[in-house]
Amino acid sequence: MNTDAVKVLPGRYCNSLTEYSRFITREVNIGDVPMGGNNPIRIQSMTTTDTMDTIGTVEQSIRMVDAGCEYVRITAPSIKEAQNLAEIKKQLRARGYTVPLVADIHFTPNAAEVAARIVEKVRVNPGNYADKKKFDQIDYTDLEYQGELERIFHKFTPLVKVCKEYGTAMRIGTNHGSLSDRIMSRYGDTPQGMVESAMEFMRMCEQLNFYNLVISMKSSNPQVMVQAYRLLVETMVAEGMNYPLHLGVTEAGDGEDGRIKSAVGIGTLLEDGLGDTVRVSLTEEPEAEAPVAIELVRRYTMREKAKGERQKVATEVKNLSPLTFDLLPSKHNPYEYKKRETYEANAFIGGHLVPRVVVDLSKKNLKDPAVLNEAGYLYSPLLDKYNMAEQSVDFVYLADELPSFTLPGNLKQLYNYNTWLKLADKTNCHPVFTLQEYIGDVDRSSKLNLVHLKPADIDSDAFGSIQLDKSLVFVLETEALHGMAEQRSFFFKMEELGLDVPVIVKRSYVFESESPEVGKSESEKVHSPWSMDHGQTLLQLYASTDLGALLVDGFGDGIWIDAPELPTGVITSTSFGILQATRSRISKTEYISCPSCGRTLFDLMVTTQMIRSRTSHLKGLKIGIMGCIVNGPGEMADADYGYVGSGTDKITLYRGKEAVKKNISSANALDELINIIKGDGNWIDAVQE
Ligand code: SF4
Repeated sequence: MNTDAVKVLPGRYCNSLTEYSRFITREVNIGDVPMGGNNPIRIQSMTTTDTMDTIGTVEQSIRMVDAGCEYVRITAPSIKEAQNLAEIKKQLRARGYTVPLVADIHFTPNAAEVAARIVEKVRVNPGNYADKKKFDQIDYTDLEYQGELERIFHKFTPLVKVCKEYGTAMRIGTNHGSLSDRIMSRYGDTPQGMVESAMEFMRMCEQLNFYNLVISMKSSNPQVMVQAYRLLVETMVAEGMNYPLHLGVTEAGDGEDGRIKSAVGIGTLLEDGLGDTVRVSLTEEPEAEAPVAIELVRRYTMREKAKGERQKVATEVKNLSPLTFDLLPSKHNPYEYKKRETYEANAFIGGHLVPRVVVDLSKKNLKDPAVLNEAGYLYSPLLDKYNMAEQSVDFVYLADELPSFTLPGNLKQLYNYNTWLKLADKTNCHPVFTLQEYIGDVDRSSKLNLVHLKPADIDSDAFGSIQLDKSLVFVLETEALHGMAEQRSFFFKMEELGLDVPVIVKRSYVFESESPEVGKSESEKVHSPWSMDHGQTLLQLYASTDLGALLVDGFGDGIWIDAPELPTGVITSTSFGILQATRSRISKTEYISCPSCGRTLFDLMVTTQMIRSRTSHLKGLKIGIMGCIVNGPGEMADADYGYVGSGTDKITLYRGKEAVKKNISSANALDELINIIKGDGNWIDAVQE
């Protein structure tokens, strides 16, 4: 068995960094719905019912399939639930549903071996399949480490043999936060540890000539998740493997936060051409997950169609298609977060400042001061003054329109250059130039000048004659179908040229009710049954993918989202949500809540809302809300506090990874949690509006 550390060959994690190219994996059979290769990116989800509730599980599975799920995962915590999968499967088939079932296994090899005889796929967590987690940071000698691997090989082999005999597929599903003590001792809770955790099991499978594998690397932190999947691909390819990838962000939460967080993680990897199946985990009904996953994936189907080609499928693990990797700029490491170094433009933007938020108000009613409410400046007509909210934008773009009221002093206004020139009072007002305007001999602001660019401008003569000084900031916009990659290439070129000019990344989304799906001229036209809610969801998913993918790589000193059909409030909250999910600017409490499953010990949706209602003002705090104590503490990863179901009506409260109140009544668990937060000095009283 190979116990060598993962070898990193920088820059080899996707087919192309500049154009959309799907990483073609080995095809794996899962019932009659194959995954990987040239198959569509599959949609899946997991039931939340008790697995012993056969009717409830069957009916929920049917709702999930009707919503678009192509695989249904069901938890099997012990042998009895594993056995009941046979009954669930029988009833689904009797009702005409042939959806492949997946058994979710943690800690229980015996349940896995039963389930693998019944369902089409089993999911094992290599962090706990044959390990009791003790949270000991023991130092393993090479010999001890090797001994551990041999012990696991022994325990794991029977399951692999059952899978081979029954044609059952297997997902090796690593989770950040539930790695084995062995892995933790050598690699820590890192993307590298996650990759090695799966690789150990994958190598064992190959040693047993079993190749019907799917791999996942989930985390509730999209940054960690993206780095782990990229490193996995690099490592797999180096070892001659190309197994399909199951993408997911764990414990993403609910509503807007859950959608944005999922899209940042999953979308970033889809942009890289990675991913063969998607599961979006929301603390909502499971049938709410598939539509989100479908929208995330749909964009890439359109891109493949636009490109008009499919790649050759590599079916033999030792016979990979030749992969052509682009080299990354020497300074950039896609497996580690490092913000691109920029100068601070007169304390407005760049440097160590958090990314700025710009919204366009030029088409709004600029006669009414309340127009700023949705941009986070709450106008009080009585006092004729503004109060800032937690999410107040930094810049408003007014183009050529002049407001008929005075804007708050800390809100900066952006005007088109020619309009800015004519302003009598330029206090707080800054010009936006075209590239041609800027290179001329013109009046500029002494403080801040924004220059609007397209990525290709960097190769132009005009770009070469830009006068560089520390008032200059670029606004980078793209209309390309694979716009994220085009904007990323711009950043790579800036790095190569040694330019440290701050950049605001801009994307525009045009929502139309009818028109062809491919060959768009604007950023990305979105065509679907139009409704405000649907438009809002699409904006959350698309903007989080496009801008989040750059922010997780450390690119972007500000973001500017345009979506003329949507209210300013939606754009403001999506912008701040993206910055929060990428952890580049924290403006609210973060909830890491599990999606719930058959193990869940309380109503997660109701409890999450209850906890949110009393703690949502604790900006920057991360609170884990987990349905069970079996996996919850591990999966809430880096939460500051945890609220974890530990029995019927029993809650265990955590401070970080330490259980500080065990098995207390759920009736007063939230009060107790608040007392702990207060005792730690992390509580502030909510401001009454
Ligand atoms: S943490 Fe939540 S989703 Fe995970 S096993 Fe426990 S109850 Fe199920």
